[in-house]
Amino acid sequence: MFKEKYLKYLETYLYVEIRGTKRFISINLEDVGFLEVGYEALNEAVDQPELNPFDELKKLDKGLLRDFLKGYMEIFRWEMAIGHPNLIDKSTFRQQVVDYIQDKASEKRIFEAVEDTNVGIYTNGDKDKFKYSPYTFHAFNGSRSLMNWVKNCTGYDESNDIVRVIEQARDFLVMVGYLKKAKVQYEDVYYLEPDQLLVRSPKAGFKKQCKKCGSRYNWEQALNCLKPSCKEVLVAATPQENFYSIQYSKPFLGNDYIVSEDHSSQVKGQERKKKENAFKKNPPEIQFLIATPTMELGIDIGTLSSVYLRNVPPNPSNYAQRAGRAGRSGQGSIIQTFCGSGSSRGVHDQYYYNRPVEIVSGKISVPRFNLSNATLFASHVNSLVLQTIDKKLLTKPSQFLDFSDRNEVPILKDYSNDLIESIQRCRQSILDNIREAFGKEITDSNGQITWSSIEDQVDQFTYHFDRAFDKMRGDYRESLIEIEAIDKRIRDEGNADYTLQGRRKALETRNNNLKDGEQDFYVYRYLSQVGFLPNYAFPAKITSVRMLHKGEEEEISRDHSIAIREFAPHNTIYYGGLKYSIQSVSREVDPTNRFLAVVCDDCEHVEKLGGGSQMPSNCPNCGSVWDSQTPVTVMKFPKMRGHKRTRITADEEERLKGGYKIVHSYKPTAKAEMNEVISSEDSLCKISFERSGEMNHLNLGQMADFNKGNKGFMLDTINLLWVPIHKVDEHVKEKKITGNQINRNISLLTESRNDVISIQLSQGYSGDEEVFCQTLLNTLFQSICTVMNLDDNEINGMYQPISGQNGKIIIFETSEGGTGTLSSFVKDKELIKRIALKALDILHFEADGSDKSDACQTSCYNCICNFYNQRFHKLFDREAVKEFLLSLSQISDIQGSQDYNVMFDDFLSKAKSSLEKEVLKLIRQEGIKPPKEMHRIITKDGEPIAEADLFYEPKICVFVDGPDHDKDYVRKDDEVKRNKLKLLGYKIITVKYVDLISGIENVKMAVNL
Ligand SMILES: [Zn+2]
Ligand SMILES: [Zn+2]
Ligand SMILES: [Zn+2]
Repeated sequence: MFKEKYLKYLETYLYVEIRGTKRFISINLEDVGFLEVGYEALNEAVDQPELNPFDELKKLDKGLLRDFLKGYMEIFRWEMAIGHPNLIDKSTFRQQVVDYIQDKASEKRIFEAVEDTNVGIYTNGDKDKFKYSPYTFHAFNGSRSLMNWVKNCTGYDESNDIVRVIEQARDFLVMVGYLKKAKVQYEDVYYLEPDQLLVRSPKAGFKKQCKKCGSRYNWEQALNCLKPSCKEVLVAATPQENFYSIQYSKPFLGNDYIVSEDHSSQVKGQERKKKENAFKKNPPEIQFLIATPTMELGIDIGTLSSVYLRNVPPNPSNYAQRAGRAGRSGQGSIIQTFCGSGSSRGVHDQYYYNRPVEIVSGKISVPRFNLSNATLFASHVNSLVLQTIDKKLLTKPSQFLDFSDRNEVPILKDYSNDLIESIQRCRQSILDNIREAFGKEITDSNGQITWSSIEDQVDQFTYHFDRAFDKMRGDYRESLIEIEAIDKRIRDEGNADYTLQGRRKALETRNNNLKDGEQDFYVYRYLSQVGFLPNYAFPAKITSVRMLHKGEEEEISRDHSIAIREFAPHNTIYYGGLKYSIQSVSREVDPTNRFLAVVCDDCEHVEKLGGGSQMPSNCPNCGSVWDSQTPVTVMKFPKMRGHKRTRITADEEERLKGGYKIVHSYKPTAKAEMNEVISSEDSLCKISFERSGEMNHLNLGQMADFNKGNKGFMLDTINLLWVPIHKVDEHVKEKKITGNQINRNISLLTESRNDVISIQLSQGYSGDEEVFCQTLLNTLFQSICTVMNLDDNEINGMYQPISGQNGKIIIFETSEGGTGTLSSFVKDKELIKRIALKALDILHFEADGSDKSDACQTSCYNCICNFYNQRFHKLFDREAVKEFLLSLSQISDIQGSQDYNVMFDDFLSKAKSSLEKEVLKLIRQEGIKPPKEMHRIITKDGEPIAEADLFYEPKICVFVDGPDHDKDYVRKDDEVKRNKLKLLGYKIITVKYVDLISGIENVKMAVNL
């Protein structure tokens, strides 16, 4: 029985395998000349009396006629127009064959290939009718391949003549049983009868081949290649011997059968365990396991003798862990590490490629654990609450959530009351347990974690517990909405799309799993994935993508700052060995929910314009004037859907390679710690650190479009599909929607809270600032990663030019909550020195600034150049940052300081009149430093004398006088007060509303003195 089913399976796959050549991707037996496809009894067919009515066919020589008919059918075969029942009705095939052999057949991918293959049909019917059918439409009389072939064989040029031949050949082939005529959507369609195909080994090889595409033929008289793009006549075939022909002619005997599997957090728990066991067996059932760091700890495979690392691990500890998987039973082992160059691992890998000793024998660092990460700490508190209370947590969501109310899915009242009461009863023991577990960390946190905030967290446990299920609620609704959409399609279109039922079933299964707490929805696992309980491997704040994967509805998630690129429209993601492309948004998303934002031309700051607010006249970050700026339309990064893709066109691939235009924007708030770095008694630079700084990440569309002035993405709001910008018109026509139903030029935004540092020179850089900053930024990435043992994708950053001031370098931790590593950067003098020295080393400088022997001119791939910073290569100049790094390596002190922009923002909010605001803005624009204080009351012996609108040190009072001050009694009062101040040694500057310019000029002179 198995054998019979298996043969059915192989036969079906054979049709997929012999479809048009996939040369370059997977070379099949036909491509190397080991297989020839023929058609049963074609020689005899042309001698039958059935040919008589077809005058056009009869005109041809018998030999040419045989070639012509064969080529005609080959075109069908190449377009997969083969009417095999298993290819047409895949659900029956799955039930009757695949499900039956699945456990024993290890070539799972074969069925995927069958499932991905649509049967081609040739028809003169209406293209639109076949849109949702399981067929690929080919216009019969308009087929370029068929027309070209007729032309080559008959010499006809007029399309009337050509169509006549196409039709005669079609009718003849139907009559003698090679083509099958069927009805689909009430139209006549044609495809090959699979039974007529003959697959054999060519007796004497091939006679002819095409010079251009390499296709081989055994024509009797025909002279041409079947492909319309190959114009030249065929040449004599040369025997080929290459890698594939050699591999394919080796006997099977004596070859090992190797099974490889993947092992990652995306493989479900039970499945992963199974794979581990099969891999551990002796002899192993899986010989090759491709693993992510989930394999790094805890899994002991005594017999493992070799580890191949596809990149250099982040630090020596990881290297030791991973390499140490092999040779556990004392046997010899081989560790091979692959160092990337053109990949995202370039910087890191190249560094260690040049200094291998540092990774194999470097210092093993203690794992980082950052309790001052508020989310992480809260999750530990939650976990202690659960451990302490006398109420057991139910593990199936349906036991405590009311799914019959699909909009709210509320928590059941009695359950939440029970939780609240239990917490109140156990409150003291909970707090005691927290004190026991984290007492030291709380004391060490210097007030960052307070007892009252911990008590709040405990008292609000039930509220946060309830909120933690919001993601699940959305997930549940999304599936329901998706199911309804499928039902509607089945009602409207009939059951034409054979995939619909499968998709519906997958969604229902997902919702059942969700209610029953199966798989990822097991309550404890779910709560740690959303960050309510501690977790190590999963980011808590996430953006996700859902898709139908191997018959199941699955979801994958990423950090916001990574999702902005990875889950962006049209991108390709790899999951479970298959390729998915991001093509639509979840049906739960409201596509009308949009707002405006401005991206500063100078510093790329992103300012969101909420609730109809006006565009500010100046950039709130850099102060540059916004007069020619146009706002962009923004949508919060929605939940996406991935769709399985087997092929990607060259055009799509080219566009993907160009990447996206993404800006990461950060504006410090008053929370930022600002420090002045002092080197040989002068202020060298300011370094700020902000824990959980607010960041906006904006994806402004595919680079290829952005460079042509087309910002953002296009969303079909009816079908919720992302439409490539250059295909919008076509799409509107095809989907029969109106142009207004496309949301145009939508940029996508994610918001995150990341640990951020910024560096700004105290004195301006005398040369080209961009050269300095980009060189410094890219050098620091590398030296920070090396010194602080970070993976190079753990930090990111940008250069921010600031209008009228020195530009800034911003570096942030990519994951929210972060590792806490950057926090030490602002305060630790020795650490800064080490980073500076490492930076010099990376740039081929000795610690004294002299060139090393391997030094390059400006930059090279051995220092800071890599694939990803290519567009800055021309800016890099290691000499530009040398002096700065030398000073940084010798700093003497770090002092607390303040950020001017933050101060200006603060003052602007305190301004009492619009005139004061105006003056502040002008001061900022002119690059004058912000006042020390606003509205300072000057006193003498405890007696108030006057209120200075702006106060600068030392003793500079700036008065901003509006029209009120023109009144005689006000003027008189002003005079008296200001004279007193003068007598007390204050410098008085008046900025009058009638002449702001000269007033500001005076402030500038006084302050800069
Ligand atoms: Zn060709
Ligand atoms: Zn700006
Ligand atoms: Zn170099």
